[in-house]
Amino acid sequence: MRGESSELRTAQGRAGQHGASRTTGGSFASIALAAILAVQMAGCGSASDTASKVVAPAVAPLAEPAQGEWARHGFNLSEDRFSPLEQIKPDTVAGLKLAWFHDLDTSRGQEATPIMVGGKLFTTSAWSKVQAFDAASGTLLWSYDPKVPGEAGAKGCCDVVNRGVAVENGRVFVGTYDGRLVALDAQTGKEMWVVDTVDQAQNYTITGAPRLVAGKVIIGNGGAEYAVRGYVSAYDMETGKLAWRFYTVPGKAGVKDGAASDEIMAKLADATWMGKPDTVGGGGTVWDSMAYDPDLDLLYIGVGNSGPWNQNIRSPGGGDNLFVASIVALRPQTGEYVWHYQETPGDQWDYTATQHMILADLMIDGKPRKVLMQAPKNGFFYVIDRTDGKLISADGYVKQTWTTGVDMATGRPMINPEAFYNKTGKPWVSLPGLLGGHNWHPMAFNRSTGLVYFPVNEIATPYIPDDHFEWKQQAVNLGVDLAKATMPADKAIVAAVKAGLRGQIVAWDPVKRSAAWSVDLAGPWNGGMLTTASGLLFGGTAAGDLVAYDAKDGRKLWSFPAQSGIVAPPMTYAVNGKQYVSIVVGWGGVYPLLLGEMAKKSNDRPNRSRVLTFSLDGTATLPELQASAVSSAPPPRPFGSTAQIALGAQVYARTCGGCHGDGVRSGGVLPELRHSAMAGDRDAWQAVVIGGALKDNGMVGFSRDLTPDDAEAVRAYVVARANEDSKQ
Ligand code: CA
Repeated sequence: MRGESSELRTAQGRAGQHGASRTTGGSFASIALAAILAVQMAGCGSASDTASKVVAPAVAPLAEPAQGEWARHGFNLSEDRFSPLEQIKPDTVAGLKLAWFHDLDTSRGQEATPIMVGGKLFTTSAWSKVQAFDAASGTLLWSYDPKVPGEAGAKGCCDVVNRGVAVENGRVFVGTYDGRLVALDAQTGKEMWVVDTVDQAQNYTITGAPRLVAGKVIIGNGGAEYAVRGYVSAYDMETGKLAWRFYTVPGKAGVKDGAASDEIMAKLADATWMGKPDTVGGGGTVWDSMAYDPDLDLLYIGVGNSGPWNQNIRSPGGGDNLFVASIVALRPQTGEYVWHYQETPGDQWDYTATQHMILADLMIDGKPRKVLMQAPKNGFFYVIDRTDGKLISADGYVKQTWTTGVDMATGRPMINPEAFYNKTGKPWVSLPGLLGGHNWHPMAFNRSTGLVYFPVNEIATPYIPDDHFEWKQQAVNLGVDLAKATMPADKAIVAAVKAGLRGQIVAWDPVKRSAAWSVDLAGPWNGGMLTTASGLLFGGTAAGDLVAYDAKDGRKLWSFPAQSGIVAPPMTYAVNGKQYVSIVVGWGGVYPLLLGEMAKKSNDRPNRSRVLTFSLDGTATLPELQASAVSSAPPPRPFGSTAQIALGAQVYARTCGGCHGDGVRSGGVLPELRHSAMAGDRDAWQAVVIGGALKDNGMVGFSRDLTPDDAEAVRAYVVARANEDSKQ
């Protein structure tokens, strides 16, 4: 693996030139507006039927949770996030009060689902830190810091988040941002074993929660935006020994990995890549969702987008590029391939199939069906037969421009020819955009209402082919031109595009194949969902409220001001006969980092990360909210030639904008560079951007990709942007 990565860097390193002709202004606004005004809903065909194959489980199952516990990431192995607890119900929820809270030591995004086992609540915060609480009192029992190096923060696209732990047999398992899988003693938080699951020379990260099957811990990773090669691994729960690994995309031509995927690569996947250079990882990272059916003995993994996005670079001859953007079913004890369903063949739009998957048994056309449900980024709600991967239905849950629907005869989307920006050479603005119609935020399926609840985004984004693509070590490798896609400075255009952003909660009927109801929210990027047998739906909003709705009709029954934007999902548990609802709050993730100012439509307050736990007799209160200071200092004097500023815009878009925000407008999670005193100080700027003076905070030095002149050009651009905005 190390050889592969070093070849990637030396062969394609810094050969290209910065395209100085490209400018900071772009056509994002006009094309985004056009897309917002002219969207189409997808049609669909009829359901198909297929035979089922049932296979007996190979080994003893996982422990059965006790009553009141929330033992698995998605509540159960089916991941339906449907709790049987009924003490908190539509009649009583108005009296729900804060029982306890815990301040977290971070202002980065919080995405974890806590686990409650044996009266202890186990959760995680940014930088992969783990906390164990007494679930009733909120007393901190222990905490664990894996000491992820700050500079690992620059290895990922989408904030240093963590989605939680897995707990089994007295052990707590967590994946760390720098790629380690750690087993902790659930009593003490002490390390029992640690394994490195990735090649540290490459841009791999772990943000997802480990999943469990009998005797094994399953973990994937992220990094497709950097064009790494995706895989999922199984480790022995007791020893941490690697049991199997399944690569989701082919490696070097003719080279076997000695992995569980070797056979299916040769038999099926290799032929769907055409001219893939050995230096291309290909993407297909398994960075979040999995589900497990012990009766069928199938582990389902959601596979991410291709890398680079632009197919001309990764597979110049075209092809479906298996298994990017697919759901793959594996034998959990061996990693053996069983079936796959590819949602977005030859993906070029970051349409991951890593979104939450729910297993359920539904009556469809009068027949009981074992289904898997997913609402991935590409905008279709899929109902799939989980015994064999055959498509049952696929319907648009959000406005779509990239397709006119899914062909039920082939199971393939009918893609708008204009969406192939790699072929047309022209900008394409897509709905859903790169953040998806629905992202990682977990869904919930209420077996009483029959509805699946999830937060939906309407965020059109442009895809503009990069005519001067060059490989970078410390930046995303997408093959699309991020500088051309930058929002212009004009505040009126920014406001107009912002006005087009929408966020909703949708209650989807997977049998009727349509939305039963929806609730409009302030903007996109709202929290995941929890539903209960008592008829409640809980979800946090980006704007900072935890809300309880009537699961039948979306009527708002209760809300709590959390003092911070919420993206994580709530969960519920009972201890000593009392029901609690718990959530980790804290604004962050890719949306505010990348989209910057745009994200302030959803939430414009700073991150205040906390664990909040509620009960019907709670008596805790949050401290008063302190107003945060906004810099009113004038921007530094502008400097630099037009060409230097243009170069700075180019470098910024590729290397800096993913965290500091589109067009140097921060989304509020990371520092606002336009107001940074450092932008007026060449030496201080060089010390950070090239020298890595703030690497422990996650701001790595970029000397592997950038020259001091590049860094100075970025400074000229940042100062120019600050002056542009101060004049408006
Ligand atoms: Ca992605």
